[in-house]
Amino acid sequence: MKQPDAILTIDGHDIRVYRQRRRSFVMKTTPLGLVLFIPTRASLKSDVMRDFLREAVQKLGDKTAPKDAPVITPPDGLKAMVGDWAARMGVAPTRISVREMLRKWGSCSSKGSISLNTALCQVPRPLAEYVVVHELVHLTVFNHGKDFKALMDRHLPDWREREKGLEAWMAGGTID
Ligand SMILES: [Zn+2]
Repeated sequence: MKQPDAILTIDGHDIRVYRQRRRSFVMKTTPLGLVLFIPTRASLKSDVMRDFLREAVQKLGDKTAPKDAPVITPPDGLKAMVGDWAARMGVAPTRISVREMLRKWGSCSSKGSISLNTALCQVPRPLAEYVVVHELVHLTVFNHGKDFKALMDRHLPDWREREKGLEAWMAGGTID
């Protein structure tokens, strides 16, 4: 998954920071924990930022992902999605599991076992699909380098938009 631009620790909470073209700061609880979206050039060290963070962490720190979101794809559906894409891509994961994960949408072990975050059940399908293809590509390429991107381009040409869509979804924005 795309790495955050920074990770801050405030009062014991890790916050993933993404810089975006936006005017305001927003902090959300997401399946990946606390995520902060800030304007591209905002300073993380200003007093205003520090006050905002303290307050937001106090308010949100103990809440987890938005559990009230409707289920779009049940766990079995996610597993089926992995199976379909694996067949299409000509790869074969050794194991597929859907489980609660704190900080990641998905992972792929060196033994070829793929795990998906149960929170993906609540994510629009094209975005869940992005995570599925991403993890399946890791069966062939274990980093996010040139070969990884080439395979993503081949299997899911609009993967960059979907990746952005996933961030936008976390920020409560619209996906287009
Ligand atoms: Zn990855």
